This record gives sequence, C-alpha cells and structure tokens, in this order.
Amino acid sequence: MSKRKTTLPAATPRAEARPKLLSVVCPAYNESENLATFVASVEAAMRAIAQPYEIVFVNDGSSDSTLELMMRLRKTHGRIAIVDLSRNFGKEIATTAGLDLAKGDAVVVIDADLQDPPEVIAEMIAGWREGYDVVYARRRERNGDGPVKRLTATLFYKLIHRVGAVDVPENVGDFRLMSRKAVDAVCSMREHHRFMKGIFAWIGFPSKEILYDRAPRAAGTTKWNYWRLWNLSIEGITSSTLAPLKVSTYFGFATALTAFLAGAFFILKTLFFGDPVPGFPTLVVIVLFLGGIQLMVLGVIGEYLGRVFNETKQRPLYFATEVYPSDIGADRTSVRQAV
Ligand code: UDP
Ligand code: MG
Repeated sequence: MSKRKTTLPAATPRAEARPKLLSVVCPAYNESENLATFVASVEAAMRAIAQPYEIVFVNDGSSDSTLELMMRLRKTHGRIAIVDLSRNFGKEIATTAGLDLAKGDAVVVIDADLQDPPEVIAEMIAGWREGYDVVYARRRERNGDGPVKRLTATLFYKLIHRVGAVDVPENVGDFRLMSRKAVDAVCSMREHHRFMKGIFAWIGFPSKEILYDRAPRAAGTTKWNYWRLWNLSIEGITSSTLAPLKVSTYFGFATALTAFLAGAFFILKTLFFGDPVPGFPTLVVIVLFLGGIQLMVLGVIGEYLGRVFNETKQRPLYFATEVYPSDIGADRTSVRQAV
C-alpha cells in the first residue's frame, strides 16, 4: 500500500483583520438544556473581539423542546438561523446542513454542549488572518473520557494513520474554523457515508492546529455509545481507504497457499504411509477454517458493496422541514441540495 504523506501548502496572510461575517454552525440533538447558555457564551466571545457573526443552528430531529427554544432565541437575537431537519440524520449530516446554510466568509463548527469553548474562536480567527483556510482545534487532554474510551480512541487513530489515504489528525473533532473556500469544498462533497474527519482532511488547503482544553459536557448526555463509535470507526475506514479489500485478497492468497501445501502434504503422506485413520478432525478443522475466512472476507466485501448501493441511490443528503435564515449577511434562503 502506498501511503501518501499529505503536505499542505503554506499560508499567505490576508489583508482583512477579521471575516466580514463569521457563521457559527451548531448541530443540536436534544440540547434544550444547553442552548441558552451556548448562545450567551458565543455572544460574549464574539463581542469581546468585535466580530460580526451569525449562529446557524441545525435541529437534528430532536424529541425534546430544542426547536421551540431555538425559535424563541431567534426572536430575541436576529443573528440566529435555523435548519429544522425532517428527522434525526446524525451529527455528520446535520453539520453539513448547517454548512450549506452558513453565509459567512468564515465558518466555525462547534458542539452545542459547550465542550468546545467559544473563547477559542478568537485564536482561530487569528489563524484565518494569517491566511489559513482551516484552523482546527486539538484537545490537549481527553478530560471527560474514561480509560477505555481513551484506549479505543488511540487504537482507532493508529489504525486510520496506517491504512488511511489521508492523515486524520489525532484528538481533533469537528471543532474548527474554515474559510469560505474550504467550506465550499466540503459542501461540494455530497457522499452519504460522511466521515467528517476524513472529509475535512481530504480537502487539503493550508491548515493550522491550535490546542484547547475540552470541557466536560455542560448538561445532558453524550449521544455516542460504543456501538455508534464502532460504526463510526468502520465508516472512517471504509470511506477513506480500500485497504481492507486488499488485506482480504492477500489473506485469501495466504490461505489458498496454506491449503495447497497442506493438501500436498496429506496426499504424499497417504501415498507413502497409507491412511489407517480416517482423519476426521483434520477435515473438520480445515473446512471450518476455510469457511470462516470466506465468510469474513465476504463480510468485508459486503461492507463496501452496501456503501456503493447507498451512494448509487443519489438521494439528497437530508430534508429540512423548514429553514429560517438569520437576518444578517447576503441572502441565501434556500438550503443547497444534493447535486
Ligand atoms: N448531535 C447531532 N445529532 C446526533 C448526535 C449529536 O446533531 O445525532 C450533536 C449534539 O447535539 C452536539 C454534537 O453533535 O451538539 C456533539 O454530540 P455529543 O456531545 O453527544 O458528542 P461528544 O461530545 O460526546 O463527542
Ligand atoms: Mg459533547
């Protein structure tokens, strides 16, 4: 496997001191407890640096009062846009819906639970001024996570580093600032199996890393259990590399070679020494071994085939029940749909 080491171009400083408009995109699923505090702290952080902004909320099919709260907040702050998705599409698609509606010449993606501190945005804007198209935040420590989650996360990054086609930086989530150019690039990628970390890494552009301390969740509970994380890992691998298919092929070759050698051995043994014992255990072991490998490899192929199936349907990425734009910036009232 040839692994391409991604080297990113250098940045040239921008003439402007700050983006004319910054869009803060925030996907939210059952976050009613956090929204008011979230808006207040984004507002405070933006006022501190005199940055014109809008908040783009995406209601990802919440079952609590998240949407009503968003609507109420929007009435009092003209700076809030809302995309109300028709059901829960998951964070990756919800984020994309927010990016589609964002009007800013720079966009920040941030969680609603205040785990990503809005004060860090000032530092991201400094990176934007230096000319970077992507400024991503790497967490210094995984404070809120237990040892098992840390270990599985480390293993996952090791694996993706080894097999992935692009470098996905470790301990970096979706919390990042992107220039208009980078946002348009991300929005142009309409694949359904969206591993955002992979997409963010794939687009390239001059990128900068800043460090931050990830706070524990302000209220509510995380939506990621281990089953969802496992599926996310499979998504991460299958959406960025064909390596498992190659590994399967080599696995197949190795097994076939072993079977051939074992076959030769048994034939010769029978020719020279006869076959006084029926050899039932050997037979069972070989059959089970081959059967197991075949099923496993079929499973790997199936994972890819299923993804091909989903992508060929070419459905739009999401449906929005309603889109409420913010009242600042150029008008972009309709959400861009899949191409
Ligand atoms: N989220 C979403 N749709 C989902 C799950 C999560 O929009 O199906 C949002 C959630 O409201 C939050 C962000 O994605 O703003 C991160 O979710 P969470 O805090 O559960 O993840 P964690 O911080 O534990 O990785
Ligand atoms: Mg969180």
